[in-house]
Amino acid sequence: MTPALETRNLKKSFGGFLATNDVSLTIAQGARHALIGPNGAGKTTIINLLTGVLAPTAGRVLLHGEDITALSVHARVGKGLSRTFQINQLFGDFTPLDSIMLAISERQRRGGKGLVALASQKDLIEESAALLESFRLADVMAQPTMLLPYGKQRLLEIALAIATRPRVLLLDEPAAGVPEEERHEVLATVRDLPSDVTVVLIEHDMDLVFSFADRISVLAQGAMFAEGTVDEISKDPGVKSIYLGEDA
Ligand code: ADP
Ligand code: MG
Repeated sequence: MTPALETRNLKKSFGGFLATNDVSLTIAQGARHALIGPNGAGKTTIINLLTGVLAPTAGRVLLHGEDITALSVHARVGKGLSRTFQINQLFGDFTPLDSIMLAISERQRRGGKGLVALASQKDLIEESAALLESFRLADVMAQPTMLLPYGKQRLLEIALAIATRPRVLLLDEPAAGVPEEERHEVLATVRDLPSDVTVVLIEHDMDLVFSFADRISVLAQGAMFAEGTVDEISKDPGVKSIYLGEDA
């Protein structure tokens, strides 16, 4: 079967520093694939290369077998590749309902209508409310996003990515910075993502990684260090050693 997502000999150099060093990565269709590694290993850089935020110095990116290396971020989203950002980028004044309606109408190319016009479209409201419900956001959907607990904001980021109906979803540390009492909600939502969406997860919480992933790739200093099943990676002494000295 053609992989959902693939990199071939991917390289990214920042002024001579190789943040991505010859990475060839294969993400199977429908996979729950975790990308782990110490801080500075180059995980976010790879996500930026996959999504088109950064252009590689060398190498290629393939989505369902199609070379997308030269495509813009927007064109890649149109082909079914979506992400959430590690740093919260939500419009603070908007409510979750506003944001989700805008995201769905953008996907459906209803565009250019403004929130008031969108709010009169019953089917759009219904789809938005259902999505918010499944992302545990129903109780806060009419509140300004900036006033929401941080965990709810992270849930909204994931819901917004899903609203684009991705075939492949990239999650960069979805639980980072979320207070302990809200973490379980974010983790449960990640575990409950639709099974037809291929998910690539970057995460420091090894309990989440081991309970979520069916395949794990380990990066160190920009290069692929190890790859395998949860069982293989959790028992790999080499993988443990690259985390030594880290407070993760
Ligand atoms: P991770 O997400 O695994 O913590 P990153 O991909 O953010 O790692 O960073 C990998 C390395 O690349 C780090 O040493 C970081 O300082 C460097 N780096 C990332 N982005 C840039 C940039 N725009 N310019 C220069 N160096 C960068
Ligand atoms: Mg990172």
